[in-house]
Amino acid sequence: MQFCLMKAVAVFCGSSYGHGDTYARNARNLGTELAARGIRLVYGGGNVGLMGVLADSTLAAGGEVFGVIPKALVDWEVAHRGLTELFVVDSMHERKARMAGLADGFLVLPGGFGTMEETMEVITWAQLGLHAKPLGFWNIEGFFDPLFSFFQGTIDAGFVSNHHLNLFFVESELPRLLERLDTFRVPQLGKYVPPHKPEI
Ligand code: AMP
Repeated sequence: MQFCLMKAVAVFCGSSYGHGDTYARNARNLGTELAARGIRLVYGGGNVGLMGVLADSTLAAGGEVFGVIPKALVDWEVAHRGLTELFVVDSMHERKARMAGLADGFLVLPGGFGTMEETMEVITWAQLGLHAKPLGFWNIEGFFDPLFSFFQGTIDAGFVSNHHLNLFFVESELPRLLERLDTFRVPQLGKYVPPHKPEI
């Protein structure tokens, strides 16, 4: 058994399964691996989609799972009743803040708008120097490639500095993804301000 420095990781992932079985299979493998490494899972507390698969597989392998769900979503996302701890909070904002507080780092799996929203907030917090916890994308079958192309577009258009791509890491294989959670250091960069104001 391998133990990491990371004690708890927050995972953002879909409340849907995605097409095919690849995403769910990988979510299951992540849960099994987190439990084997003694890393507590922190997630959105739902029992639906990849979120549910991940929680179930972590628990089935003997791991600890903390869920954080807003009151308003307890029914909508079918709050998972078998978790180590389920925190029911007042708002989406509180959910994100609580998840971030409970975790030493973040992983992002394929998902939809909710997954993106949570991920972008954590990246912007790192950009502003509000935390220095690692965030890694698990780029399963190139799922995030279009997002990274968009990021490159924001750099090309002068809205983001090249250096800000170093605020997170990207891996496509699970062992390497978990390894990097321990070794990745978030650079202190500050917000990007373009050097020149255009003549308008
Ligand atoms: P999705 O990727 O859209 O399937 O959503 C994944 C998770 O993100 C679900 O648990 C959503 O409730 C959650 N989510 C969506 N918007 C927010 C938000 N603003 N703050 C926190 N969690 C959110």
